[in-house]
Amino acid sequence: MNLEQLKQKIEAAGVVGAGGAGFPTHKKLALGIDTVLVNASECEPLLYTDFTIMQQHMAQVAAGAEETAKALGAKQVVVAMKSHTAAELNYQDGETAGSFSVIKTVPNIYPVGDEIILIYQALGKIVPPGQLPAAVGVVVINVETAYNIFKSLCDIPVTEKWLTIGGNVPQPVVVKVPVNCDVKAVLKAAGISVPPGHTVLDGGPAMGRIINPNTAKITKKTKSLLILPDEIPAVAMKTTSTERVLKRASSACCQCSFCTDMCPRHLIGYPIQSHRTLRAVGSGQISSPNDLLTASLCSGCGVCTFMACCQGIIPSATMAEVKKNLGKNRLAYRSTEPTVPDPERDNRLVPSSRLKGRIGVANFDKPARFIEDFTVSQEFYSLPLSQHVGIPSVPLVQAGDEVEAGQMIAKAAQGISAALHSPVKGKVLSVTDSYIEVKAGGVK
Ligand code: SF4
Ligand code: SF4
Repeated sequence: MNLEQLKQKIEAAGVVGAGGAGFPTHKKLALGIDTVLVNASECEPLLYTDFTIMQQHMAQVAAGAEETAKALGAKQVVVAMKSHTAAELNYQDGETAGSFSVIKTVPNIYPVGDEIILIYQALGKIVPPGQLPAAVGVVVINVETAYNIFKSLCDIPVTEKWLTIGGNVPQPVVVKVPVNCDVKAVLKAAGISVPPGHTVLDGGPAMGRIINPNTAKITKKTKSLLILPDEIPAVAMKTTSTERVLKRASSACCQCSFCTDMCPRHLIGYPIQSHRTLRAVGSGQISSPNDLLTASLCSGCGVCTFMACCQGIIPSATMAEVKKNLGKNRLAYRSTEPTVPDPERDNRLVPSSRLKGRIGVANFDKPARFIEDFTVSQEFYSLPLSQHVGIPSVPLVQAGDEVEAGQMIAKAAQGISAALHSPVKGKVLSVTDSYIEVKAGGVK
């Protein structure tokens, strides 16, 4: 299969980055790639989603990545996973999975799943600041994305999502649910209610976002639902208002620069200097435009907040705010020059066990059980036309149409966009600019 044919299959199946990014996968693939890197590192604590997919479907994950590599003319497929994950899946570093995918073990550090860090850790390459992995001949795909690529080759669209339900629950589980089903329906099917004083996160404890479990939906990007106590740092830091964040940055920062010294991207040579960004925001002292511009290189990992700052400041939130404003003004730091890792990097890596302790989730990390026959009962589905990066999907149906499970109901728009499929057989109730509502007819 050539690259155009593969991209058509992937586009028709509505595959987007399932690791949380949501970038339409067919738009990520272009010639000039020598390595397909499968991100199997699952670096946030409490998540067992990718681990379970590999446990159940490693051959298909490898096949999806290998077909991608062949279509791209890439030389290799590298599956990067943590050493303990490899051991549990009975793989060794350097061993082959699938036909020619090679397992590469990486240490259990946070945030090794940040693709810029993973490319360095697994391949020894550094993506120049502000560039895409393609600049060093690499395309990174998540485990579930590779699995969805495999299914697209069999003309099976993305209509289900794998996710971990974990946190302060009696038994964490991994389940498959229909894309766009309601979070409350998933929790009900799992027999889980959210206790008072707890918050639900979509995503990992460090980088996930707070959702309202009564109104939120599972999207193509959802990796987990975590139920966590409000008082733990992982949650408390997310509930601090932007106003308070900026006030703390201006009043309490002593410019010790620990946040910069510990920043994982700074440690591979990126010119992020969060203490300078905080000074620029807090007191207006700007020594160079790069004090602000380099915030565009921030991954949002939170290491500066959780592991470095002892003043109760939330540097990662300030960085996020600056990055957001840079984005609005189409400003970003870019360089074509390779960078040089800090010689102190090895001494400043953050073991996942330390992160878990700092953010208050160590007691909740129990292996998740896979429930294969998990069923969500839901009658009405509201399917957002924009659950991916880019332009909303274009509806192909109208109110009153009967649809089959897996039928494409919205196609990818011109440009960066993705198709959408009905997860259930049913009837279209309404079509708006932002969603398609389907009433399920006697299906799960
Ligand atoms: S959140 Fe903090 S530690 Fe992480 S990349 Fe941004 S500045 Fe660096
Ligand atoms: S670690 Fe905290 S106090 Fe030190 S420079 Fe960074 S934000 Fe300021």
